[in-house]
Amino acid sequence: MATVDGLPPLRDVIATHELVAKKSLGQNFLLDLNLTSKIARQAGDLTQCDVLEVGPGPGGLTRGLLAEGARKVLAVEKDSRAMAPLAEISAAYPGRLEVINADALEIDPLERLTAPVRIVANLPYNVGTELLVRWLTPPSWPPYWASLTLMFQREVAERIVAEPGSKKYGRLAILSQWRTTPRIVMELPPEAFSPPPKIHSAVVHLDALPAPRFEADPKVLERIVAAGFNQRRKMLRASLKGLTPDIEDRLTAAGIKPTDRAEQVPIEGWCALAREMVKG
Ligand code: SAM
Repeated sequence: MATVDGLPPLRDVIATHELVAKKSLGQNFLLDLNLTSKIARQAGDLTQCDVLEVGPGPGGLTRGLLAEGARKVLAVEKDSRAMAPLAEISAAYPGRLEVINADALEIDPLERLTAPVRIVANLPYNVGTELLVRWLTPPSWPPYWASLTLMFQREVAERIVAEPGSKKYGRLAILSQWRTTPRIVMELPPEAFSPPPKIHSAVVHLDALPAPRFEADPKVLERIVAAGFNQRRKMLRASLKGLTPDIEDRLTAAGIKPTDRAEQVPIEGWCALAREMVKG
Protein backbone atom coordinates (compact mmCIF):
# COMPACT_ATOMS: atom_id res chain seq x y z
CA MET A 1 0.00 0.00 0.00
CA ALA A 2 1.31 3.49 -0.88
CA THR A 3 2.19 5.94 1.88
CA VAL A 4 2.01 9.75 1.96
CA ASP A 5 5.67 10.09 1.05
CA GLY A 6 5.67 7.35 -1.61
CA LEU A 7 8.14 5.26 0.42
CA PRO A 8 7.26 1.69 1.45
CA PRO A 9 5.32 1.07 4.70
CA LEU A 10 7.62 0.68 7.71
CA ARG A 11 6.76 -3.00 8.19
CA ASP A 12 8.07 -3.68 4.67
CA VAL A 13 11.17 -1.55 5.30
CA ILE A 14 11.97 -3.55 8.42
CA ALA A 15 11.38 -6.89 6.63
CA THR A 16 13.42 -5.91 3.54
CA HIS A 17 16.39 -4.72 5.59
CA GLU A 18 16.05 -7.47 8.23
CA LEU A 19 15.96 -4.86 10.98
CA VAL A 20 15.06 -7.23 13.79
CA ALA A 21 14.72 -5.09 16.94
CA LYS A 22 17.68 -5.32 19.32
CA LYS A 23 16.94 -4.95 23.00
CA SER A 24 20.51 -3.86 23.72
CA LEU A 25 19.91 -0.72 21.59
CA GLY A 26 16.53 0.03 23.18
CA GLN A 27 14.78 -0.61 19.86
CA ASN A 28 10.99 -0.25 20.04
CA PHE A 29 9.91 1.10 16.67
CA LEU A 30 6.94 3.28 15.77
CA LEU A 31 5.35 1.92 12.60
CA ASP A 32 2.32 4.18 12.19
CA LEU A 33 3.24 7.20 10.03
CA ASN A 34 0.12 9.10 11.17
CA LEU A 35 1.41 8.78 14.72
CA THR A 36 4.96 9.84 13.85
CA SER A 37 3.62 12.91 12.00
CA LYS A 38 1.53 13.74 15.06
CA ILE A 39 4.65 13.55 17.26
CA ALA A 40 6.55 15.75 14.77
CA ARG A 41 3.75 18.35 14.97
CA GLN A 42 4.20 18.58 18.76
CA ALA A 43 7.58 20.22 18.08
CA GLY A 44 5.87 23.26 16.49
CA ASP A 45 6.53 24.81 13.09
CA LEU A 46 9.54 23.02 11.63
CA THR A 47 9.68 24.74 8.27
CA GLN A 48 12.32 27.29 9.33
CA CYS A 49 14.23 24.87 11.61
CA ASP A 50 16.99 22.31 11.53
CA VAL A 51 15.99 19.22 13.54
CA LEU A 52 18.41 16.99 15.42
CA GLU A 53 16.94 13.49 15.72
CA VAL A 54 18.63 10.86 17.88
CA GLY A 55 17.99 7.20 17.11
CA PRO A 56 15.97 7.31 13.85
CA GLY A 57 16.06 3.49 13.44
CA PRO A 58 14.03 2.55 10.33
CA GLY A 59 12.97 6.20 10.03
CA GLY A 60 9.32 6.42 11.06
CA LEU A 61 9.75 9.64 13.04
CA THR A 62 12.28 10.93 10.48
CA ARG A 63 9.64 10.60 7.77
CA GLY A 64 7.14 12.40 10.02
CA LEU A 65 9.57 15.28 10.56
CA LEU A 66 10.31 15.63 6.84
CA ALA A 67 6.63 15.33 5.87
CA GLU A 68 5.85 18.10 8.38
CA GLY A 69 8.30 20.35 6.53
CA ALA A 70 11.53 20.32 8.58
CA ARG A 71 14.11 22.45 6.74
CA LYS A 72 16.79 19.82 7.48
CA VAL A 73 16.97 16.71 9.67
CA LEU A 74 20.31 15.60 11.10
CA ALA A 75 19.78 12.03 12.31
CA VAL A 76 22.28 10.26 14.57
CA GLU A 77 21.89 6.47 14.69
CA LYS A 78 24.20 3.93 16.30
CA ASP A 79 22.90 0.87 14.43
CA SER A 80 24.61 0.51 11.05
CA ARG A 81 21.79 -1.79 9.84
CA ALA A 82 19.55 1.33 9.68
CA MET A 83 21.82 3.16 7.21
CA ALA A 84 20.26 1.58 4.08
CA PRO A 85 16.63 2.41 4.90
CA LEU A 86 17.65 5.91 5.99
CA ALA A 87 19.49 6.40 2.66
CA GLU A 88 16.20 5.65 0.87
CA ILE A 89 14.49 8.42 2.86
CA SER A 90 17.36 10.76 2.05
CA ALA A 91 16.87 10.07 -1.66
CA ALA A 92 13.13 10.81 -1.38
CA TYR A 93 13.87 14.19 0.30
CA PRO A 94 16.95 15.46 -1.58
CA GLY A 95 19.28 17.65 0.49
CA ARG A 96 17.08 17.56 3.60
CA LEU A 97 18.27 14.49 5.52
CA GLU A 98 21.83 13.97 6.76
CA VAL A 99 22.54 10.74 8.62
CA ILE A 100 25.45 10.09 10.95
CA ASN A 101 26.22 6.51 11.95
CA ALA A 102 27.47 7.15 15.50
CA ASP A 103 26.75 6.95 19.19
CA ALA A 104 24.90 10.15 20.14
CA LEU A 105 26.72 10.20 23.48
CA GLU A 106 30.08 10.39 21.69
CA ILE A 107 29.58 13.10 19.08
CA ASP A 108 28.95 16.85 19.00
CA PRO A 109 26.55 17.57 16.12
CA LEU A 110 26.55 21.34 16.63
CA GLU A 111 28.71 22.31 13.65
CA ARG A 112 26.34 20.53 11.25
CA LEU A 113 23.28 22.47 12.43
CA THR A 114 22.03 25.97 11.63
CA ALA A 115 19.87 27.90 14.13
CA PRO A 116 17.07 27.71 15.00
CA VAL A 117 17.43 24.07 16.06
CA ARG A 118 14.78 21.79 17.52
CA ILE A 119 15.64 18.39 18.97
CA VAL A 120 13.05 15.66 18.41
CA ALA A 121 13.55 12.00 19.32
CA ASN A 122 12.00 8.72 20.27
CA LEU A 123 14.94 8.09 22.55
CA PRO A 124 16.44 4.76 23.41
CA TYR A 125 15.34 4.35 27.04
CA ASN A 126 18.81 3.43 28.20
CA VAL A 127 20.35 6.76 27.13
CA GLY A 128 17.30 9.06 27.22
CA THR A 129 17.78 10.58 30.65
CA GLU A 130 21.52 11.04 30.17
CA LEU A 131 20.98 12.93 26.90
CA LEU A 132 18.25 15.08 28.48
CA VAL A 133 20.54 16.06 31.36
CA ARG A 134 23.33 16.95 28.91
CA TRP A 135 20.98 19.09 26.81
CA LEU A 136 19.74 20.84 29.97
CA THR A 137 23.25 21.59 31.30
CA PRO A 138 25.18 23.31 28.48
CA PRO A 139 28.19 25.53 29.28
CA SER A 140 26.03 28.64 28.85
CA TRP A 141 22.33 29.56 28.59
CA PRO A 142 20.37 29.89 26.30
CA PRO A 143 21.41 26.58 24.67
CA TYR A 144 21.87 25.97 20.94
CA TRP A 145 18.40 24.37 20.75
CA ALA A 146 15.05 26.18 20.95
CA SER A 147 13.01 23.16 22.06
CA LEU A 148 13.19 19.46 22.92
CA THR A 149 10.36 17.07 21.98
CA LEU A 150 11.22 13.70 23.44
CA MET A 151 9.63 10.32 24.05
CA PHE A 152 10.28 8.85 27.51
CA GLN A 153 8.95 6.13 29.73
CA ARG A 154 5.83 7.71 31.26
CA GLU A 155 7.43 7.48 34.70
CA VAL A 156 10.37 9.65 33.57
CA ALA A 157 8.03 12.12 31.83
CA GLU A 158 6.10 12.51 35.09
CA ARG A 159 9.32 13.22 36.98
CA ILE A 160 10.21 15.98 34.50
CA VAL A 161 6.93 17.87 35.03
CA ALA A 162 6.45 17.02 38.75
CA GLU A 163 5.49 19.80 41.17
CA PRO A 164 6.87 20.45 44.67
CA GLY A 165 5.30 18.26 47.33
CA SER A 166 4.91 15.25 45.03
CA LYS A 167 6.89 12.01 45.34
CA LYS A 168 8.13 12.45 41.76
CA TYR A 169 9.54 15.95 42.36
CA GLY A 170 13.33 15.85 42.36
CA ARG A 171 16.49 16.69 40.44
CA LEU A 172 14.98 16.08 37.01
CA ALA A 173 12.01 18.38 37.72
CA ILE A 174 14.23 21.17 39.05
CA LEU A 175 16.78 20.84 36.25
CA SER A 176 14.00 20.91 33.63
CA GLN A 177 11.72 23.55 35.11
CA TRP A 178 14.44 26.01 36.11
CA ARG A 179 15.27 26.92 32.51
CA THR A 180 12.51 25.41 30.35
CA THR A 181 8.74 24.98 30.33
CA PRO A 182 8.16 21.21 30.12
CA ARG A 183 4.72 19.76 29.21
CA ILE A 184 3.53 16.22 28.59
CA VAL A 185 1.93 16.51 25.15
CA MET A 186 1.10 12.87 24.29
CA GLU A 187 0.76 9.51 26.04
CA LEU A 188 1.32 6.26 24.16
CA PRO A 189 0.38 2.71 25.16
CA PRO A 190 2.84 -0.18 24.66
CA GLU A 191 0.93 -1.36 21.55
CA ALA A 192 2.02 1.78 19.68
CA PHE A 193 5.49 0.22 19.36
CA SER A 194 6.98 -2.85 17.73
CA PRO A 195 7.92 -4.81 19.71
CA PRO A 196 5.73 -3.41 22.53
CA PRO A 197 7.74 -2.41 25.63
CA LYS A 198 6.48 -3.37 29.11
CA ILE A 199 5.81 0.23 30.09
CA HIS A 200 3.69 3.17 28.89
CA SER A 201 5.42 6.07 27.16
CA ALA A 202 4.87 9.81 26.94
CA VAL A 203 6.15 12.67 24.79
CA VAL A 204 7.46 15.71 26.66
CA HIS A 205 7.93 19.08 24.96
CA LEU A 206 10.35 21.53 26.61
CA ASP A 207 10.74 25.11 25.34
CA ALA A 208 14.02 26.76 26.35
CA LEU A 209 13.46 29.97 28.30
CA PRO A 210 15.65 32.91 27.21
CA ALA A 211 17.02 33.11 30.79
CA PRO A 212 16.66 30.95 33.93
CA ARG A 213 13.48 31.56 35.96
CA PHE A 214 15.52 32.58 39.03
CA GLU A 215 19.15 33.58 39.39
CA ALA A 216 21.55 30.87 40.63
CA ASP A 217 24.96 29.43 39.82
CA PRO A 218 24.17 26.17 37.95
CA LYS A 219 26.95 24.19 39.65
CA VAL A 220 25.99 25.32 43.17
CA LEU A 221 22.33 24.62 42.44
CA GLU A 222 23.16 21.14 41.13
CA ARG A 223 25.25 20.39 44.24
CA ILE A 224 22.64 21.41 46.81
CA VAL A 225 19.77 19.75 44.94
CA ALA A 226 21.77 16.51 44.62
CA ALA A 227 22.62 16.54 48.35
CA GLY A 228 19.02 17.33 49.34
CA PHE A 229 17.39 14.65 47.23
CA ASN A 230 20.03 11.97 47.86
CA GLN A 231 18.55 11.80 51.36
CA ARG A 232 15.06 13.01 50.53
CA ARG A 233 13.46 11.69 53.70
CA LYS A 234 15.76 13.69 55.96
CA MET A 235 15.18 17.28 57.03
CA LEU A 236 17.32 19.71 55.04
CA ARG A 237 19.34 20.76 58.08
CA ALA A 238 20.55 17.14 58.21
CA SER A 239 20.81 16.26 54.51
CA LEU A 240 22.73 19.48 53.69
CA LYS A 241 24.85 19.54 56.85
CA GLY A 242 27.90 18.22 55.01
CA LEU A 243 27.96 21.24 52.67
CA THR A 244 28.59 23.91 55.31
CA PRO A 245 28.50 24.00 59.14
CA ASP A 246 26.12 27.02 59.18
CA ILE A 247 23.51 25.44 56.91
CA GLU A 248 20.61 26.27 59.26
CA ASP A 249 21.38 30.01 59.04
CA ARG A 250 21.69 29.88 55.27
CA LEU A 251 18.43 27.94 54.90
CA THR A 252 16.65 30.50 57.07
CA ALA A 253 18.19 33.40 55.12
CA ALA A 254 16.88 31.78 51.93
CA GLY A 255 13.38 31.64 53.42
CA ILE A 256 13.44 27.83 53.87
CA LYS A 257 12.55 26.09 57.12
CA PRO A 258 15.54 23.93 58.19
CA THR A 259 13.04 21.21 59.16
CA ASP A 260 11.60 21.01 55.60
CA ARG A 261 12.41 18.07 53.35
CA ALA A 262 13.84 18.49 49.83
CA GLU A 263 10.56 17.74 48.07
CA GLN A 264 8.78 20.60 49.88
CA VAL A 265 11.08 23.31 48.47
CA PRO A 266 10.00 24.99 45.21
CA ILE A 267 12.58 25.92 42.56
CA GLU A 268 12.59 29.53 43.73
CA GLY A 269 13.68 28.34 47.20
CA TRP A 270 16.49 26.16 45.82
CA CYS A 271 17.77 29.13 43.79
CA ALA A 272 17.60 31.43 46.85
CA LEU A 273 19.62 28.88 48.81
CA ALA A 274 22.17 28.59 45.95
CA ARG A 275 22.65 32.38 46.18
CA GLU A 276 23.04 32.21 49.98
CA MET A 277 25.63 29.43 49.65
CA VAL A 278 28.04 31.63 47.71
CA LYS A 279 27.92 34.51 50.20
CA GLY A 280 31.05 34.88 52.34
N1 SAM B 1 13.03 6.64 16.08
C1 SAM B 1 12.67 5.25 15.79
C2 SAM B 1 11.19 5.08 15.92
O1 SAM B 1 10.56 5.99 16.50
O2 SAM B 1 10.66 4.07 15.49
C3 SAM B 1 13.43 4.28 16.68
C4 SAM B 1 13.25 4.50 18.17
S1 SAM B 1 14.04 3.28 19.18
C5 SAM B 1 13.13 3.53 20.69
C6 SAM B 1 15.60 3.97 19.64
C7 SAM B 1 16.65 4.10 18.50
O3 SAM B 1 17.86 4.67 19.05
C8 SAM B 1 17.07 2.80 17.88
O4 SAM B 1 17.06 2.91 16.48
C9 SAM B 1 18.51 2.56 18.39
O5 SAM B 1 19.32 1.82 17.49
C10 SAM B 1 19.00 3.97 18.54
N2 SAM B 1 20.08 4.14 19.53
C11 SAM B 1 20.27 3.46 20.69
N3 SAM B 1 21.33 3.94 21.36
C12 SAM B 1 21.81 4.97 20.62
C13 SAM B 1 22.90 5.87 20.79
N4 SAM B 1 23.69 5.82 21.87
N5 SAM B 1 23.13 6.79 19.83
C14 SAM B 1 22.33 6.86 18.73
N6 SAM B 1 21.29 6.03 18.51
C15 SAM B 1 21.03 5.09 19.44
